[in-house]
Amino acid sequence: MPSEFELIARYFTRATSHTLLGVGDDGALITPTPGQELVISTDLLVEGTHFLADADPEDLGWKTLAVNVSDLAAMGARPRWATLAAVFPAPTPEWIEAFARGFFACADECGVDLVGGDTTRGPRAFCVTVFGELPAGTALRRDGAKAGDSIWVSGRPGGAALGLAHLQGRTVLAGPLRGDCLAALHRPQPRVELGLALRGMANSAIDVSDGLLADLGHILDQSGVAARLKIPGLPAAGLERNCLLAGGDDYELAFTTANSKDGDITALSVRLGLPLTRIGEIVAGPPRELVLCDDDGAVITPARRGYDHFA
Ligand code: ADP
Ligand code: MG
Repeated sequence: MPSEFELIARYFTRATSHTLLGVGDDGALITPTPGQELVISTDLLVEGTHFLADADPEDLGWKTLAVNVSDLAAMGARPRWATLAAVFPAPTPEWIEAFARGFFACADECGVDLVGGDTTRGPRAFCVTVFGELPAGTALRRDGAKAGDSIWVSGRPGGAALGLAHLQGRTVLAGPLRGDCLAALHRPQPRVELGLALRGMANSAIDVSDGLLADLGHILDQSGVAARLKIPGLPAAGLERNCLLAGGDDYELAFTTANSKDGDITALSVRLGLPLTRIGEIVAGPPRELVLCDDDGAVITPARRGYDHFA
């Protein structure tokens, strides 16, 4: 097995594109772009909680960075740098090599330089911190939703949870749906371009990591508003409906915009080639109330809103 330093040198040291000093010293040196604010976010992935012991290492490497970049997308930031703290149990070089391949594939796609980290032996876990930039004062926050806003979601939420249900034998997916759901689960696509386009357009945004209703609930909480949802094509009942409403791990963006911008969002959807669906509207109080209606306007009570590690 390679030593810790051979590991870092061989698998986690790559040429950088916009970094003064990267991996190898006691700290990295970066030059923030003048006039830009830094957006910083950390996510931890732990075996058994966030991924299964037999997860494909290349997919896992991708996802480890992608879920972090998704937080930058939800802020409207351009991803720039990342650090990676990795805990491996006696790793085989093949496993780490595949993990690094997936990680750097996502880094290349998102324009991220890996500039440092830490590497330790122990139960498998990965902690990434990402740094992004945006023009001062333009961040998309959770606390800006206003009564009258349209509520939108990107992509097709629920796919990752359906893919997981398939892997766990709770349902059987077939045909293109199976491929789509497994890709959503294993290779989430951070919606960076969408986040950038929403600057100056959206009043609030969040990425859907714990479930659509749960994450929308954070916007309602922090903005002090309520919502009425009417989701086009909401499945009548069962697993598919639960996955759409409360499934985690999708990393789509949920956001609100003044309803005068509905046409702009539809045009943006075409430009990005990404479905953007209007799923309801923000209404004035009572704060945090989230009412879900079916196609006929009847109120539905969902079984649960989302995932909470401590509930
Ligand atoms: P120190 O003991 O000074 O903290 P380390 O030996 O932990 O330094 O790390 C040496 C260099 O390798 C540092 O620049 C650190 O940021 C980098 N590094 C360590 N682990 C990783 C990793 N998994 N990915 C990227 N860089 C790493
Ligand atoms: Mg260290």
